[in-house]
Amino acid sequence: MIWIGSHVSMKAPDYLLGAVKESIGYGSNAFMIYTGPPQNSRRVDVDRFRLEEAAQLMQESGIDPERIIVHAPYIINLANSLKPETADFGAEFLQEELRRVTQIGASTLVLHPGSHIKAGADVGIRWIADRLNQVLDADDSNVVIALETMAGKGTEIGRNFEELQAIRELVNKKDRIGVCLDTCHIHDAGYDLTEFETVLDEFDRILGLDSLKVIHVNDSKNPRGARKDRHENLGHGHIGFETLYGIVHHPRLENVTKILETPWVEDRPPYREEIELLRMEPASAAIEAAAQAVEARKKTAEEAEPGENPAAAAV
Ligand SMILES: [Zn+2]
Repeated sequence: MIWIGSHVSMKAPDYLLGAVKESIGYGSNAFMIYTGPPQNSRRVDVDRFRLEEAAQLMQESGIDPERIIVHAPYIINLANSLKPETADFGAEFLQEELRRVTQIGASTLVLHPGSHIKAGADVGIRWIADRLNQVLDADDSNVVIALETMAGKGTEIGRNFEELQAIRELVNKKDRIGVCLDTCHIHDAGYDLTEFETVLDEFDRILGLDSLKVIHVNDSKNPRGARKDRHENLGHGHIGFETLYGIVHHPRLENVTKILETPWVEDRPPYREEIELLRMEPASAAIEAAAQAVEARKKTAEEAEPGENPAAAAV
């Protein structure tokens, strides 16, 4: 059994009910939402989320609330020591977000650790941990904050497993801190996913495999170590379908929720097709089908009318 889904939208008027319906349409048994627009902090009241109908539909279709992943907006930067009001605002928002996550019935909140701007990673790590302590010490839910592995662009913290461990080490409620591993991000940060067993051993040694709550399954538009963070459709990037399939089906990761955040293709979400490919067995059949899908898209791009920009189709 694999637990897999994608980022789905969470918008008026159906909110969580709409998110569940969208997920079912992709053949998912898990999904990830933002509680509002990812780029801002405006949030409507949870009362409007249609929680009861969503819960009922989830029960009917076998989606365990444990498999709902909430992603905090990426404007939160707990590490901004140069602008303390930004870090404080992030902490306040996070406090409220934990309440929303609890009300929704989910138990995992993914958070980008933050960027230290110019203060240095050590200062940034301390700022993140201080604010996480402030938030978690005042919260008695059991929601786990899953710190995400980052690509290391700019001054991002979380570009290796050690930095995430350094944050957790300073947090009082350590059992409330988990990890979200993003395949595109760690590839861009320099980890070699073709040697995934080694990467996993390293993760286990530094963070402990028990702390791994979510895997963001994305291919990457850039070569390993590029520190870019540009997601690509499965099989169309520098990681490749076979490696990603191996991660999704890895026996040590069976209980970890996998979430796709791959880009839309020609104004359409690609998740139904990508999830179907990832569910396909045996691996050889899935790899063959994925290769054909890559070829088919290339051909479509070549056949595109002159003047149309075929590259735009992939964004
Ligand atoms: Zn993220």
